[in-house]
Amino acid sequence: MNPKSKELFERAQKVIPGGVNSPVRAFGAVGGSPRFIKKANGSRMTDEDGNEYIDYIGSWGPMILGHRNAEVEEAAVKAARDGLSFGAATEIEVEMAELVCDTVPCVEMIRMCSSGTEAVMSALRVARGFTGREKIVKFRGCYHGHSDAMLVTAGSGVLTAGRPDSAGVTKGTAKDTLLADYNDLQSVKDIFECNRGEIAAVIVEPVAANMGVVLPEDGFLQGLRDITQENDAVLIFDEVITGFRLAPGGAAEYFGIMPDLVTYGKIIGGGMPVGAYGGKKEIMKCVAPVGAVYQAGTLSGNPVAMAAGLKTVQILKNNTGIYAELNKKAQKIAGAFSEKKGIATNQIGSLLSAFFTDSRVKDLQTAKTSDTEKYAAYFNHMLKNGIYVAPAQFEAMFLSAAHTDEDIEKTILAIQEF
Ligand code: PMP
Repeated sequence: MNPKSKELFERAQKVIPGGVNSPVRAFGAVGGSPRFIKKANGSRMTDEDGNEYIDYIGSWGPMILGHRNAEVEEAAVKAARDGLSFGAATEIEVEMAELVCDTVPCVEMIRMCSSGTEAVMSALRVARGFTGREKIVKFRGCYHGHSDAMLVTAGSGVLTAGRPDSAGVTKGTAKDTLLADYNDLQSVKDIFECNRGEIAAVIVEPVAANMGVVLPEDGFLQGLRDITQENDAVLIFDEVITGFRLAPGGAAEYFGIMPDLVTYGKIIGGGMPVGAYGGKKEIMKCVAPVGAVYQAGTLSGNPVAMAAGLKTVQILKNNTGIYAELNKKAQKIAGAFSEKKGIATNQIGSLLSAFFTDSRVKDLQTAKTSDTEKYAAYFNHMLKNGIYVAPAQFEAMFLSAAHTDEDIEKTILAIQEF
């Protein structure tokens, strides 16, 4: 029963477009009223009607340690007591930059901003400034935030809405975004062939997680590294989801590939609004005030956000056993799906997706073969059983360190029942 959520949704729709501040929260793909969340703790979220859910969204990634991790909370509260924002340089920003540069081999310098969208938008600008070229290659079904250039055949909520291109993006902007197919190196080679000397960067989710989870096939990421190197283009790994999640050094460490630039969000803010982009010193030196590429932010490097993010990243770096644990839990859930015919399961570390299809899912085209009505039924079955998974097929299931064996067992039972 959720009368309070229903009532809030009624009120919200009058004053907020669709009643939500980010589209996929609206339950548009699965029907029913979105749950309004009052609080969360560990692996659980509680809605305004007092219903408790095992949470497999984790704020779409940031809460890898679970909700209200005591150390993260203490760090954020302590920072808040010293002032919420100064708009001036702080020591903790230096600590954060040093920690990331020490943790991620491909990051020699880093700049903080306030969201993943901003991180990507800025990294693209830097790549263009650095190379003096204008075109960007992205992959169909990958989502890189809502900047104009990236809303071309994008994933996540835009894909769920069945409109992977947004109104309001000019033809002029869209024409500089060239589209390749995930896991298809030939499609990338063909684009470079037709646009010699014009491509500034290739941007990729090293594990795609916004058309559901889609793993890079053997050689795909290395192939991108080789093609970009041969063509003096910048390789950008969008690690907004995978950063600090697959390993302390993200997908770059996990797969042993060195991109030129990396973008972060989510975990690096520990649940506060943060994004960041970093990479080779040679490229990052193009950023203002030392270089000619302008990028700025009133709340960039916000002290409370830095405190939450720094503590989260420190915990992950000092307890790398967390990753094996997360992988084990996710494998168990994946196992429950793969027992069944007609379900394709993709899992890596703490990320997984089940697609209701007989096809192997390796790109946008195969992801779209999933029966999304079946997904909606699955979502509602899980919700009824007190388990909160993504309210859309084209998203990931996020495991956290706070999920208990009991949570996993309850989840598996509900999957089997479905
Ligand atoms: N890149 C990726 C890979 C993402 O998954 C997202 C958000 N889910 C973004 C960029 C945009 O981040 P934000 O929502 O913080 O702007």
